[in-house]
Amino acid sequence: MRRLAKAIDGLDEPAVEKIAKDQQEDPFQVLIATLLSAQTRDAVTAAASARLFRVARTPRTMAKLPVLRIQELIYPVSFYRNKAVHVRRTCEQIMTRFGGRVPSTMDELLTLPGVGRKTANLVLILAHASQDNICVDTHVHRIANRMGWVRTRTPEETEHALYRATRRRWWSIINLYLVTWGQNVCRPVYPLCPQCVLIDICPKIGVTKVGKRGKNA
Ligand code: SF4
Repeated sequence: MRRLAKAIDGLDEPAVEKIAKDQQEDPFQVLIATLLSAQTRDAVTAAASARLFRVARTPRTMAKLPVLRIQELIYPVSFYRNKAVHVRRTCEQIMTRFGGRVPSTMDELLTLPGVGRKTANLVLILAHASQDNICVDTHVHRIANRMGWVRTRTPEETEHALYRATRRRWWSIINLYLVTWGQNVCRPVYPLCPQCVLIDICPKIGVTKVGKRGKNA
């Protein structure tokens, strides 16, 4: 992790981290941006979030937008029709059940439409400053297994295994480090192992073909 801290310096941060910093860790915007980000490229997530927040920046105003309007604003994020429904219902529930505030516990966050453990963990880390959560997406799941930190089949299994396999002081930043590394170097296909700063300590579990070029490694 210390090597990664140096290696990711200067690389593009994931979209939701950027949005969280730009919006002073506003829990609502972190929550909505994370909902939009699932299976969507960062540039698309950032642009869609910006369009949506220009029209509505609070759960009160967003809950009043018709679902079709939300669809228009967030297109072309993946599954934009479903996500528009989840965004609208989540805003309604934040207003009716949580007094207009994004909840700050895992159990409460998981009751919101479309919110799974990945989204809830990221909201707790980025917007509620939690040091007790690990957010596992496909990059974290893949790299933790390639590195041999865990041997798991699903991101949820990886999250629980990582609590046992890693030191608490890294938990809140594992996502930032591994997602940045996964987008730039330890890519899903053809990872850039020959240029990776972890090459001498990584067993490359499951890696069969590596890429040869990359300016960021
Ligand atoms: S050596 Fe290869 S598999 Fe291991 S972390 Fe680096 S890019 Fe990923």
